[in-house]
Amino acid sequence: MMNKLIERSELRDIYEKVEAGQRIDEADCLRLFRSNDLATIGVMANAVRERKVGNAAYYILNRHINYSNICILDCDFCAFYRRRRDAGAYEYNLPQMVEKAQEALKLGITEIHIVGGLHPSFKWEYYIDMLRELKKLDPRLHLKAFTAIEILHLSWVGKRSVPETLKALREAGLGSMTGGGAEIFDPEVRNVICHAKESAEEWMDVHRTWHKMGGRSTCTMLIGHVEKDHHRVDHLKRLRALQDETKGFTAFVTLAFHPDNTKIAAAGPSGFDMLKTLAISRIYLDNIDHIKAYWILMGMKLAQVSLSYGVDDLDGTVIEEKIYHMAGAKTPQQMAQDELVRAIREAGRTPVQRDSLYNPVNPVEADAGSAFAEASADQASPSQTAATYAGAGNEGGKA
Ligand code: SF4
Repeated sequence: MMNKLIERSELRDIYEKVEAGQRIDEADCLRLFRSNDLATIGVMANAVRERKVGNAAYYILNRHINYSNICILDCDFCAFYRRRRDAGAYEYNLPQMVEKAQEALKLGITEIHIVGGLHPSFKWEYYIDMLRELKKLDPRLHLKAFTAIEILHLSWVGKRSVPETLKALREAGLGSMTGGGAEIFDPEVRNVICHAKESAEEWMDVHRTWHKMGGRSTCTMLIGHVEKDHHRVDHLKRLRALQDETKGFTAFVTLAFHPDNTKIAAAGPSGFDMLKTLAISRIYLDNIDHIKAYWILMGMKLAQVSLSYGVDDLDGTVIEEKIYHMAGAKTPQQMAQDELVRAIREAGRTPVQRDSLYNPVNPVEADAGSAFAEASADQASPSQTAATYAGAGNEGGKA
């Protein structure tokens, strides 16, 4: 039964479509962005969320490794990149990458998330050996790596076509692709915030190619810089169309722009805007199963609230995050499993530890909620902690 709030809402007709399980169109989506009726938008998003995943809220034990911040581009919104001789420039060699992965495996992670700048001199072998060496640590470890622009860069470095590049990376251990680099697809916006980056079409082509090879990836939208509501609608429209075609996206992530140390004079999105955008993405992207709130960007408190506004995934333990902290994020860089579980429970949801493809991992123990902290304390061996993985399979930030 429709409540009084919705009966009186200017969005009542959209609510009726959503309730009937009908797809909303771009005009509806624009009206949602232009409305301040967050309560009604939240009710709609929550209904879609619960229809898709019930009361579950997912999280993953993962570690991020940003292998280098040295980049040949200079995107105006990016606080992460450095030139080789700049203060703060860094690059990890393979033994350093392996050491970081080994430390995290002791904590029970099931996934390593790897992105970096477009390095001017790393050879093709660096990337292939990186994946091989990490995969050798435990074949069940899922390597979620590289954005579309990194794939294009590797294609250039390795003098291979994009399909050949993706095939070689998959043979070396690539599990799935990350969704970064999409920013906002509109060319006028891209011209302001990342003029030298790949076009929307190139971003889509890389993901399309990967999906057609059976790979999976995530997709993103960066908000709170120079974009307008209609740019966001256009962005979501392109993602929904590609998902209709390939069904390869596992999740959508709204990324909040952080302005510190960038060349863009904008404040980033408010909490209200973040919640509204997450909720609208849940309503509009009816063909993408999961909506993720990246707590490292928006803070755990707002991420927790977002679980009632369409979100069903809080991402993971992360351990070391450089990209958004160099842009001013004040969040911690690591979240223990029991903290993630507690945050989810406080929001009235049921915590489900997942693997990279959203299969539940060890659900009973995840419910107990302290394996990450315990493993950290007693430094269990990789084989002991990794034994809890569900199969990572062979499918399938910045840059
Ligand atoms: S966003 Fe990526 S490609 Fe652009 S400057 Fe930063 S690291 Fe380089």
